[in-house]
Amino acid sequence: MNRQNASSKIAKDHADYDIAIIGGGPVGLAFAAALKDSGLKLCLIEKQAEAPLARPDYDGRDIALTHSALKILQDLGIAAHIPAKEISPIRQASVMNGTSFYALNFDSRDEGQEALGYLVSNHLVRKAAYDTVKGRRGLDLRTGVEVTGIETGEARNTVHLSKGGTVAASLVVAADSRFSTSRRMMGIPVGMRDFGRTVIVARMKHEKPHDQIAYECFHYGRTLAVLPLNGNVCSVVVTLPSDQAAGLLAMPMEEFNRDLTERFGEKLGAMKLMTERHSYPLVATYADRFVGHRFALLGDAAVGMHPVTAHGYNFGLYGIRALSGKIHEALSVGLDIGSPVLLERFNKTHRKTTLPIYLGTNAIVSLYTDERPAAKRARSAGLRLGNFAKPFKRMITRQLTQTEMVA
Ligand SMILES: Cc1cc2nc3c(=O)[nH]c(=O)nc-3n(C[C@H](O)[C@H](O)[C@H](O)COP(=O)(O)OP(=O)(O)OC[C@H]3O[C@@H](n4cnc5c(N)ncnc54)[C@H](O)[C@@H]3O)c2cc1C
Repeated sequence: MNRQNASSKIAKDHADYDIAIIGGGPVGLAFAAALKDSGLKLCLIEKQAEAPLARPDYDGRDIALTHSALKILQDLGIAAHIPAKEISPIRQASVMNGTSFYALNFDSRDEGQEALGYLVSNHLVRKAAYDTVKGRRGLDLRTGVEVTGIETGEARNTVHLSKGGTVAASLVVAADSRFSTSRRMMGIPVGMRDFGRTVIVARMKHEKPHDQIAYECFHYGRTLAVLPLNGNVCSVVVTLPSDQAAGLLAMPMEEFNRDLTERFGEKLGAMKLMTERHSYPLVATYADRFVGHRFALLGDAAVGMHPVTAHGYNFGLYGIRALSGKIHEALSVGLDIGSPVLLERFNKTHRKTTLPIYLGTNAIVSLYTDERPAAKRARSAGLRLGNFAKPFKRMITRQLTQTEMVA
């Protein structure tokens, strides 16, 4: 190797950045968008190739966004890349239990709002986040590369890459899923709850209009959520014991259509599959801390939610706002962006935002999947109480519709 080749090999094998982001999912990409005007040198490392980031396939997930989360996507410039007709308002929500049609209802009009929240397909959020950051000056996108190790250092951490070579950064931010390997490499323990259940998701069209009402039916044995998309189309989310999931995934289409139509009491008339079915095992995770030495967790790597209360990506966006806000503050006064003080402030803020809802969600799941007689009575009483406890309903509706809830 001549001297010129040798020096360019060194340059390729090691590079210095201000921030290295691990994971190019909807959170990692949105975090890069949040730092676009910071002047920082960023590197985003993603194990998938670039093509599936640029043109992600439909993955069955329709993400319910709170007003606050949608506002963050607008502020980051990501929402502008999502076609307006692909954003579906949820005007009301109805929660039912067992075989009864009695419902706990939430209505956006109680807060003078047009919607409780908005549904957007996950693959469109991912595509929009990619379109927002691609080609950005100051961002080096390294795709098809996996992180294999993280070494901490006083002023910089060094990230080791599967293709060989390293990158060093003052701060490493991991958004590499609820089963984050970076979190493990940094020795951060995680609380994990495997629900032993799987969700099966798909889009269906139907005869009657849904009037933009979302339904959550805690049937016995199975849970069915029907989420209203624009037109006579909904996203169905069936939760069932994992040993029954393969059967429902393989069920012939006609039979599946009939099964869903009947389980939903023909409320929307005949329902028909429009997409293939996708499945996800239900495991909730909560990291013992969201920070380490020059290291922070974002997205599902920090908090992996059960989807019943639809908070996973919302929390990802709140985390982005909290961490990027603290980084911008530090930059404005010339402070270190990886300092323990800054990271601890982010840790505290984000735990305060997420922990009560994480615990509350798991408690709801425990109660509404318990089929002992006393639990069945408590489930039914819970909905009735909810309808009469107006402050409780207002608190939930406000939490979904306000736009300034995060520190
Ligand atoms: C059925 C279902 C319904 C949902 N509904 C809602 C909802 O209504 N509302 C809501 O707010 N949330 C919802 N969620 C949650 C939401 O989908 C997640 O919170 C969100 O996708 C998390 O994004 P993320 O970027 O943190 O992680 P991920 O999407 O898991 O992305 C992680 C990325 O990191 C990459 N990666 C992993 N390891 C490495 C490595 N070692 N090196 C490099 N790259 C790596 C992966 O390839 C991937 O691209 C739902 C989830 C499911 C399953």
